[in-house]
Amino acid sequence: MADLGKPQNTIAVLQKYNFNFQKKFGQNFLIDSRVLDKIIEAATITKEDFVLEIGPGIGTMTQYLCENAREVVAVEIDRNLIPILKDTLKDYQNVEIWNEDILKVDINRLAQEKNQGRPIKVVANLPYYITTPIIMGLFESHVPLESITIMVQKEVAERMQAGPGIKDYGALSLAVQYYAKPEIVAHVPPNCFIPRPKVGSAVIRLTRHREKVLKVENENLMFRIIRASFNQRRKTLVNGLNNAKELNLKKEQTGKALEQLGLNPSIRGEALTLQQFADLSNLLCESDYSSNEIS
Ligand code: SAM
Repeated sequence: MADLGKPQNTIAVLQKYNFNFQKKFGQNFLIDSRVLDKIIEAATITKEDFVLEIGPGIGTMTQYLCENAREVVAVEIDRNLIPILKDTLKDYQNVEIWNEDILKVDINRLAQEKNQGRPIKVVANLPYYITTPIIMGLFESHVPLESITIMVQKEVAERMQAGPGIKDYGALSLAVQYYAKPEIVAHVPPNCFIPRPKVGSAVIRLTRHREKVLKVENENLMFRIIRASFNQRRKTLVNGLNNAKELNLKKEQTGKALEQLGLNPSIRGEALTLQQFADLSNLLCESDYSSNEIS
């Protein structure tokens, strides 16, 4: 089958099947072989690897994955794409095409069956509206994971990579960085896709931490504190947490904890590092009041 990284081959396939793009599935297909090579390189795909591809489309990246990996499972929600994928991938024996919604797939089981429970690599060019639930779902469900190499909206990639003092820094940055090391590996302009999206994209690699980087007594409490801090970004941390309905923290408690950490009592949440959020939540978790009231 012809290389779908070449635009004329993608157009030929779309015409052959008279394919109608489905907006609700966020379908923008890659047509640039340099970007495809870059994704394979960034994900460090080798013949040892089992790869889960989410949203293969007409199989463009899947072809590149099959060339480079040991085995690929490609999960595609749009049943109209399945006969096309069977055609474009017919030369490869190392791929399975699953017609499913990735949010409903038991990925733990998949990793067990296909990779004996060893960490898997995930590669995806996803519709932007399900990027965050998919990434966080993969991390939070503790799927054995080596890395996720993913095409996302440029702004989302920047948010994932941001640290304190940068305007894009927020709850998503901290959630991603708690689990993984994010690195933007390529910026991808709209003309690399058919049809062209309205926004710029970026490929980001999230390499899962092998060991936990932080000691957190109560992850749930830490993430509630983080969310509350950024929901009220312009407020001081003490006031932001005091106002948050999902927390039960008194101003004095937060103030005392900040003092113990050597932080200014009028500091804003956006100035804290992930380590400082972890330390703060550990202190607040230890206090009698919060451990009785917050679980
Ligand atoms: N990977 C292809 C490429 O790069 O050319 C297609 C990328 S396109 C942006 C996103 C793909 O994800 C589409 O084929 C779409 O149908 C599929 N998709 C959308 N939601 C999905 C879901 N929940 N589960 C699995 N696939 C999904």
